[in-house]
Amino acid sequence: MECQLQRSKRKSLALHVRHDRVEVRAPLHTSTADVLRFLDKHQHWLARKLGERIKKAAEHLSLHDGGQILYKARKLSVCLENAPQPSVTIEPSRILIRGPAMSSNKAEVVLKNWLIAQAKGWLPQRTLALADYLGVNDRLAGVVFRKTRSKWGHCTAKGMIQYNWLIMLAPDGVIDYMICHEVCHLLHMNHSPQYWQSVAKICPDYKRYVGWLKQHEHELWF
Ligand SMILES: [Zn+2]
Repeated sequence: MECQLQRSKRKSLALHVRHDRVEVRAPLHTSTADVLRFLDKHQHWLARKLGERIKKAAEHLSLHDGGQILYKARKLSVCLENAPQPSVTIEPSRILIRGPAMSSNKAEVVLKNWLIAQAKGWLPQRTLALADYLGVNDRLAGVVFRKTRSKWGHCTAKGMIQYNWLIMLAPDGVIDYMICHEVCHLLHMNHSPQYWQSVAKICPDYKRYVGWLKQHEHELWF
């Protein structure tokens, strides 16, 4: 594990676990001995954080035959099958991914195309309907799909709403919350208390969905 030391005009030492490294933030004149003592003092916290990371990495979605996928909050087993035409079928306990010369890599492409099709058939209409309802449809420039690292949606200053198509794996309530989150940015281009009030008016349960995403989002990535 890489450990990075960042000195700045701050008053105290702080520890952060980033994607693949540990960051120590220190006041400008902290000695190396003090940094090491600080790391030593927090070794249990660090071990716990790193343990959580390893657990999350193990829960990452892997599309091999017999693997597991979290689909709309249900655990389905992944079943890959050879077939002339690519297709995805959701069954009560499994997801069937078919295509020619099926492999894990091909399954990713088939599932990706299927999720993009689902996203296109669902997200633009709902986004427009909510923008209409809120009277901000003239501010909506368009809806696009993009898989950006660790982001589910984004609304640009010009009113272009971007969605990560992986969100189609999430429960419908979470998807609706995402739509609400982005469309409310057409009212407020920030995360101010007023912004969250607008979100709460449309989606009173939004905290539950934010929590669900926090807890499960690492399981939806492939
Ligand atoms: Zn936002």
